Amino acid sequence: MRLTLEETLAILQESGKVIITSHVNPDGDALGSCLALAHYLKDRGKDVSVLIDDEVPKGFLVLPGAEKITAPGENEHYLADLLVVLDASLDRIGKVGEAVSAPVVNIDHHPTNDGKAERLYLDGERAATAEIIYQLLELAGGEFDKDIAMALYTGLATDTGFFRFSNTNPLTMRAAARMLEAGAEPHVISESLEQRPYSHVKGLADALQHIEVWHGGRAAGAFLSYETMEGIEATDGLIEMLRVIEGVEIAVVMKYKEEGKARVSMRSKGADVSAVALQFGGGGHVKAAGCGIEKPFEEARAMLQAAIDAALAPTDPVAGDAGSAGEEK
Ligand code: AMP
Ligand code: MN
Ligand code: MN
Repeated sequence: MRLTLEETLAILQESGKVIITSHVNPDGDALGSCLALAHYLKDRGKDVSVLIDDEVPKGFLVLPGAEKITAPGENEHYLADLLVVLDASLDRIGKVGEAVSAPVVNIDHHPTNDGKAERLYLDGERAATAEIIYQLLELAGGEFDKDIAMALYTGLATDTGFFRFSNTNPLTMRAAARMLEAGAEPHVISESLEQRPYSHVKGLADALQHIEVWHGGRAAGAFLSYETMEGIEATDGLIEMLRVIEGVEIAVVMKYKEEGKARVSMRSKGADVSAVALQFGGGGHVKAAGCGIEKPFEEARAMLQAAIDAALAPTDPVAGDAGSAGEEK
């Protein structure tokens, strides 16, 4: 059932014991949305915990409450009045789904949300789930303290590339301004997120040795096998380096941190990479999407490149009639 904002707020307000979760490999929107909602509900006397089946990246520990986020324990079972799943479909929350017994409400901004939650608030027009949480809290009376402001600002900023991507809209800016009034400190957040160990910067340099372009320079990728990844600690920022190459319309990073399991990130300047990700059971947005592929390196790489070729094909210059191409930007 698709909920309205009012119905979603009512469900949150009527529940006493609430568990909030988001996707594995959590990003700023996942963590910011969870923490903001947790602070709000705690301030209203509810028993709230944030349970995420993954580690919280160090940079996000600047957010109040981030240190209290836990992963579900082995064989542990949790009972609650409500499980709130933010910024993802239910299939991306790892072990939390099995570990928690509670009715579910799903709040998301991914147009590719699988719609399987019994109760879903989905708005694909919103730049971030944090933008939806902002709308919910506005509807609830618009009280924002510093803890909520830091969390929501982080979600808004990270999902819009710090207010640069095309999803940035007037509501994003209004919400961000409101968060600054409520005490968010943008420089504290961005400085914390920028920090990385020396080994990660070196790893990025190593990963850059593996970049390539194809499809006449319109696609760029880094395909990093398990063997290659053994020498690389992190690839943060790699997809951005590919995205900015002149002429590139689709950028992709495919990497193996586990043998036989590729993780794929894609970015685009117009072509629909969420359609490519959906073909492999993933999802995301038109211009930013991802998926996992459980195939050996060469096979996964060939499938992915073929799917990207097909996504670019509708705007390929037609032989002898180059003028008709590229209308969709
Ligand atoms: P990332 O490349 O990890 O920053 O992800 C880009 C976008 O794709 C984000 O909106 C993610 O939520 C989405 N995404 C990434 N991986 C997956 C996946 N395996 N399934 C569904 N959506 C994904
Ligand atoms: Mn996310
Ligand atoms: Mn998001």
